Amino acid sequence: MRIPTLFVALAGLSGCVVHSEAVAPPPAAAVTEAKAPVTILIGVDGARPDYLSPAIAPNLSRLAADGVSASMQPSFPTKTFPNFWTIATGVRPDKSGIVGNRMEDAARPGETFTMDSDDPFWWNTAKPIWLAAEEGGVRSATLFWPGSEVAWGGTGKADHGVYAGGRHASDWQAFNQAITAEQRVDGVIDWLRRPAATRPRFVTVYFDDVDVAGHDHGPGAPETLAAMTRVDAAIGRLQRDLSALGQPANLVVVADHGMAAIATDRVIPFDRIAPAGSYRLIETGPYAAVEPMPGQQAALAAALAEPQQHMQCWPKAQVPARLRYGTNPRAPSFLCLAEIGWMIAPTAPTRPVTGGAHGYDNAAPDMQALFVAGGPAFRSGVTLPPFRNIAIHPLLRRMLGLPADPSLDGDDGMAGRALR
Ligand SMILES: [Zn+2]
Repeated sequence: MRIPTLFVALAGLSGCVVHSEAVAPPPAAAVTEAKAPVTILIGVDGARPDYLSPAIAPNLSRLAADGVSASMQPSFPTKTFPNFWTIATGVRPDKSGIVGNRMEDAARPGETFTMDSDDPFWWNTAKPIWLAAEEGGVRSATLFWPGSEVAWGGTGKADHGVYAGGRHASDWQAFNQAITAEQRVDGVIDWLRRPAATRPRFVTVYFDDVDVAGHDHGPGAPETLAAMTRVDAAIGRLQRDLSALGQPANLVVVADHGMAAIATDRVIPFDRIAPAGSYRLIETGPYAAVEPMPGQQAALAAALAEPQQHMQCWPKAQVPARLRYGTNPRAPSFLCLAEIGWMIAPTAPTRPVTGGAHGYDNAAPDMQALFVAGGPAFRSGVTLPPFRNIAIHPLLRRMLGLPADPSLDGDDGMAGRALR
């Protein structure tokens, strides 16, 4: 075994006390370069806190036992882009400007934001953690995260996809769903093999499998739990590869939202609620984002003011304060929110409605999100009280040595309870 010899040579070079050869050989890690911990933010789309069990997610359960875990409250609406962007930026959707997976803006008439929109116009209001980190001298890398492909801060029309002045993390990848969870882990490890000068100290990685299965099969279905087990295995492999590299790491594992079961007999056809020709539907599902047709504001408002079964509708100015939604110009003129498990559809369904959905009230138990974190920065074996997902960005700032930003939506006191 060559390691003890190498250790003696290194110890001699660095002027340390050279142990006598009779002393037991040091662990392998002692001979490697002393590396600063890397912070890895891991997004598991659609993972509920109740998926955290040793039978379903053994690696994450161990991480929780050695670290911290909680049920994390998403922001409204409980959709993917609004919440992963809130996690990245520390501000709620109504403030970040990513108010839905689909939305419009009067400043861009005729355009609709979708999950393919990488025009920084939609994203520039709130700064993501990977750019805050870069500004603070922390090299960052994103292996997928909603918004990470955006040339943030860029302006003007795209010139071959380039927006003037736009920035990404030092390393980033365009989203490709065909890249498997295992390949995503390989990509992160490849970055961390680099020499210190080009090695990232903050990394994001994102897994979509659990959300896809949850939509298709429903929360808690065997297929959905199997997807959770696959993602858990990928995270376990990440941990083993980090350990083999001698790379200490703080892992922060977050979900964007939970998942609720839906059914054919729990559908609200919107065409039975409001007069034909009085509205346009921007989004439907657990909630409907509704715009009046020209001249139809009063007619639509009157129809939606009637009491509805299994849903509530409000003009944007009257959305309940607890949802913290409706002040952004991009928030729809009217919001209709279904009871948990109910779906708002343009018309009565012609095919069976099965599986799962999300987008409901962010206080609903089914919408709560997984949070697990571990590593040298974290306390051990602590179950935290529930907190809001606006707390993640401030937590990451603290872990990365960045100054607190009082302009954000607050930290719920979570970092103080989670960190050593
Ligand atoms: Zn989803």
